[in-house]
Formats: sequence, C-alpha cells, structure tokens
Amino acid sequence: MSGPERIGLRLGRCRTCHARFVPVAGPCPRCASTETDTWVASGLGKVLAATELEVPPPGWDRPHPLALVEIEDGVRLLVIPDRPLPAPGALVEVREDGPCYRAGAPGRARDERGEGDAPGVGTVRPPFEPPR
Ligand SMILES: [Zn+2]
Repeated sequence: MSGPERIGLRLGRCRTCHARFVPVAGPCPRCASTETDTWVASGLGKVLAATELEVPPPGWDRPHPLALVEIEDGVRLLVIPDRPLPAPGALVEVREDGPCYRAGAPGRARDERGEGDAPGVGTVRPPFEPPR
C-alpha cells in the first residue's frame, strides 16, 4: 500500500435542518426529512471513550478494540481504533473500511517510542467462560 490517503469521510447531510449523520443513505434521523445529500467531512475527531471487548460478537477477534469518536462535524461514530488503544481526548482520523469505520493517528504514522506505556495492549488474557 502507498502512504495514507486523505479522501475524507462521507456523511449524510439534511438540506432541511442541516444535521449530518451516518449511515449516508436514508432519511434525516433528526427531522425525518428525505431531502438529503452527501457531505464529505475531514474525518478528524476526538476519542470520547475506548475499550476492548473481551466477549465480542461471534466472528470478531478477541479482545476487540472499540472506540467512540466525535468527529469535527459533531457526529459520533463507533469505530475500530488502531492499536495501541487510544486514550480519551486523543485526536484521530476516521476512515471507512467496507462496512466498518476505523480510526488511527491523523495523517501520518504515529511516533513509536516503545516505552511500554499502553497497559493492556498486546497482552494475552487467558480464555474464560462468558457470564451466564
Ligand atoms: Zn433534518
């Protein structure tokens, strides 16, 4: 693959109330207007929360990283973050990846210090029985 490409992030935009939203298709989730079009956002945003699912849905890797990101346009997205798991407040760039959204350091590769300051990332947890 070549370097990171800035193609932006597609959002739906309501021409009635100006809300922006995902998924792109469908009526406005705020006012139900069908007068919508597509808006290309930068995809830059801030991590609100991040975690790893120890019991993800069937077919997902375990542990499965998950983050809630609010992008510049005020839209909040659940994304699969790059590792190490980003801290709340971290700036990320959200990109589409098929049916998923992923997020990583904006624009360029992250400075890798190798200081081991990302607790929990990369550790292997023993298998356990999910709670009944
Ligand atoms: Zn609307």
